[in-house]
Amino acid sequence: MAAALSSFDAVVAGAGPGGSVAAFELARSGAHVALVDKARFPRDKACGDLVGPRGVELLGELGIAPEGVVSLGDMAVIGPSGGRVILPAVPGLTYPGCAWALPRKVFDDVLYRAAMEAGAVAITARVAAVEVEDGGGDGVGGAAVVHLDDGGRLRAGALIGADGATSAVAGSVGMVRADRVQWGFAVRTYIDAEVELPVIVLFDEEPGVGFPGYGWLFPGPDGQANAGVGVGAGSDRRAGARATRYLDTFLEHLRRLGLLPVDAVAGPRLGGWLKMGMLGTSPVSGPVLLVGDAAGLVNPLQGEGIAQAMSSGRAAASAVLGVGGGGDAGAVYAQWLRQHQSAYQGSTAALQGLLLANPRMVSRLGRALTWPPIGRRLAGGWAIYWNDLVTGAAPGRARSLARVASGAIRGATAASPSRRELGRALGRPRPSAGPGEGLRAIVRLHADPSARDHRVSDQLIADRRADAEEG
Ligand SMILES: Cc1cc2nc3c(=O)[nH]c(=O)nc-3n(C[C@H](O)[C@H](O)[C@H](O)COP(=O)(O)OP(=O)(O)OC[C@H]3O[C@@H](n4cnc5c(N)ncnc54)[C@H](O)[C@@H]3O)c2cc1C
Repeated sequence: MAAALSSFDAVVAGAGPGGSVAAFELARSGAHVALVDKARFPRDKACGDLVGPRGVELLGELGIAPEGVVSLGDMAVIGPSGGRVILPAVPGLTYPGCAWALPRKVFDDVLYRAAMEAGAVAITARVAAVEVEDGGGDGVGGAAVVHLDDGGRLRAGALIGADGATSAVAGSVGMVRADRVQWGFAVRTYIDAEVELPVIVLFDEEPGVGFPGYGWLFPGPDGQANAGVGVGAGSDRRAGARATRYLDTFLEHLRRLGLLPVDAVAGPRLGGWLKMGMLGTSPVSGPVLLVGDAAGLVNPLQGEGIAQAMSSGRAAASAVLGVGGGGDAGAVYAQWLRQHQSAYQGSTAALQGLLLANPRMVSRLGRALTWPPIGRRLAGGWAIYWNDLVTGAAPGRARSLARVASGAIRGATAASPSRRELGRALGRPRPSAGPGEGLRAIVRLHADPSARDHRVSDQLIADRRADAEEG
């Protein structure tokens, strides 16, 4: 006998920050949404546990206020030759001048519960495979059937794949070319230590040969610091093992620098993959939209991914809501990715590729940037640029510097294979409503008792197609 098939307006696979925010947005707008995760919450997740300024801003917009966060400001960077520079945390026009530290076991649970409270249906099971039913043959519409490892099946007009860097959704639907992905791997541990400033450490593997990544030591609540090492691996995932190999050496380095007490004992370690620069992934296929790490949205320069996961989760949900759970939500979402992610991701992915191929350049750059006479001058712009904070930065010298760096790197990488590949993956730009309009559309829909009737959304799909054709 075939397993029972449950129907939803949307299914979200994966309940990390990307999936929970997507489910939260969908549920609070009245959509019937399933949030599926293989883990039972609260669950741990390998992370440095730092939510950057854009993430803090977005949580404020969503009205989600986790308790117990440690607010962090400036960050120190220590270079291979011991030079130190302080990257200032300056408030932007929209984002605050701080990041938050909170263990992911707590943070992700807060978002997961917010989605449940908004009305999402929690399902604990592993996504085993995805079947995509054809729409009208024009690549628009269709439905997805999600097969779970407990035999259950879920059908929806939209499937948001938020199941992380090694996404089963993306793999099952054929949205990833693993040999084109820009992988990273990072491993972290918790240590009993009061740490004042978050610190990033750049180091050489041997004299003059830079390590293609960095180590970190971040303060956390209750005197539990988070320390770890992350490495860029390019398309060769075997290179990820270097992060694990370097962790002990790195902790020893921190003790020598006086940043950790000599008797500080490290707890269990946990590692995970990062998928960066949107490479090797088509984020949209029919009714399937990938968000967060599944879409490869981790910052190629510094490994941040929580804020991008949450903002892409919100954008995908808004796109789905705008067309009532199907239709050309993919086109609306791809447009959002083009507007808000692709230029930075594409150019910094190309830059990372160049650095990975030139470890001596990595060493020289690390030394130059942390040499105080240079570092002090560049620090403000560096903090803005590598945290992708140029849009919304407050006017001033630091923003000008970051804009110059951004323009130069975009210009220099415009013809790079990564930029061309990203352009192909996102298709040609189409005029369309922004996510905000989509959300208003569904709110209007849900004011109507027939809001969950998919026939209602057909009109919206037709409207959206007409908009696109007019443009
Ligand atoms: C060691 C390390 C340190 C990091 N430090 C930081 C940091 O300090 N700040 C920062 O911003 N980013 C950091 N990142 C990146 C950050 O962790 C990710 O970008 C972020 O978690 C992405 O969120 P997500 O929702 O896309 O995916 P995830 O958080 O990976 O969530 C995916 C969810 O999907 C579930 N899942 C997976 N497969 C299936 C399946 N088949 N079926 C059902 N469920 C499934 C998982 O259980 C998980 O709950 C770090 C990453 C690592 C590895």
